[in-house]
Amino acid sequence: MLPDDSQESLRAEHEALIQFLYLAPVGLVQADLDGEIAMINPISAQLLMPLSPDGCLTNLFGALEGVAPDLRLQCAQYPREQGMVFEGLHIHLRAGEHARRAPQILSLTLLKLDGARIMAVIQDVTAEVRRERQLRQSDAWLNAILTRISDYALVSIDRAGRIVEWNESIARVTAFGEHVVGSPYSVFYPPGAMTPEHLLDRLRESDRNGWSLDEGLRLRADGSQFWGSALIAPLPDREAFGLDDPQAPAYALILRDISDKRAASEKRRQAAFCDHLTGLANRRAFFEAAELELDRAAHTPRPLALILFDADLFKNINDRYGHPAGDRVLCDLADTLRDTFRIVDTVARLGGEEFAVLLPSTGEQEALNGAERLRALVATRLVATDMGEIAYTVSAGVAVLEGVPGQPGQEGIDGLIKRADQALYLAKGRGRNCVAAWTSHLHDNEDIPKRSRNAG
Ligand code: GH3
Ligand code: MG
Ligand code: MG
Repeated sequence: MLPDDSQESLRAEHEALIQFLYLAPVGLVQADLDGEIAMINPISAQLLMPLSPDGCLTNLFGALEGVAPDLRLQCAQYPREQGMVFEGLHIHLRAGEHARRAPQILSLTLLKLDGARIMAVIQDVTAEVRRERQLRQSDAWLNAILTRISDYALVSIDRAGRIVEWNESIARVTAFGEHVVGSPYSVFYPPGAMTPEHLLDRLRESDRNGWSLDEGLRLRADGSQFWGSALIAPLPDREAFGLDDPQAPAYALILRDISDKRAASEKRRQAAFCDHLTGLANRRAFFEAAELELDRAAHTPRPLALILFDADLFKNINDRYGHPAGDRVLCDLADTLRDTFRIVDTVARLGGEEFAVLLPSTGEQEALNGAERLRALVATRLVATDMGEIAYTVSAGVAVLEGVPGQPGQEGIDGLIKRADQALYLAKGRGRNCVAAWTSHLHDNEDIPKRSRNAG
């Protein structure tokens, strides 16, 4: 039994802690290791409430499951008795009902206080992330100019993106010979890494911003690949070549082999943009890619397709074979998705057993074919586990944003997700293991209940 004054001071300390929690300018949540919430301050409640499917906030991991499915696992795998489980993890939420509002981004830091308690610090960092993204682009650009000149292939390209001239630097970096003259600059990209529309997008982007930069796999003449950056800038004196000549040089493409920097930049990228369990793009990467594609479609209209995949009766698989076996199935589904779609498609895990594939420049029939190919392939898969082989199926919903000149992507990514989700619901209703497309009929049909998904 503690002496009175000691008890008194403990009480005062506790009181001060509660005051602090309430007045803190950031969201604070104290929970046990299973995420059961013991204390939560008003800012946290405000930030987390929209995520909570039933409106009651009892479990931190539960509330965030739809947007950050890895948390429980990461917390469980944290090896130390106390310390920082992770710091400043960005969680992308879907924008609310206001169709044009950009997705909100939360930053989450998780501290393990001791063997029984964790503390989460939550902040809304939407505006900061936008600013940071702009800064990152200028950084990349500066880096590209400030490095040694011999790393470069300097390629002049015309208005349509065709290579105008050959020079030594092209041979040095890519080993391509003079025959590349006249080819589109996508010859430097591996098959499937660039659509004809993307090729032109980059030119339009550089017209608008003064430059356009991307990093990724590049192709050498012998078919081998390397990690490179490609900066495209409009030539300052291009008017001098005559606006009428479609074959006059209009842009400079600067191609760099940055294989040596790849390891470091990949590691950073993976930490921020990859789903922990499957290695696919995470929600953050998905929304960034979607924003970029919508922006591109707004400038040069073209269709953008979205397929939502959801594993069928997945709860049964977990119940029958256990959660770790369920994870194996999710990884198998992720691998199959990765193998089925193109490099330009963004294959992401949005949460739980739900995956999304964003297909640029793809119309409905093509997207339906892709979805069906994946569905059929999955139906033949058997996943080996300690408890035997697991067969599983997926359902898919397809929606397409048709590029309409003058009215680009009116409803944005939220509208597209909503439609794909309604189509997915239809596929589930048809008995699962099938694919459905969104139709305007679904739009009017108020009978279709909203599937229970977080952050809607
Ligand atoms: P439906 O065909 O209607 O989609 O049925 P379902 O059982 O797949 O759907 P429901 O939404 O009821 O259940 C989804 C299950 O997925 C429940 C949840 O425990 C499980 N799940 C979510 N995330 C993970 C994960 O990361 N790993 C594993 N193993 N299971 C997960
Ligand atoms: Mg499911
Ligand atoms: Mg689901």
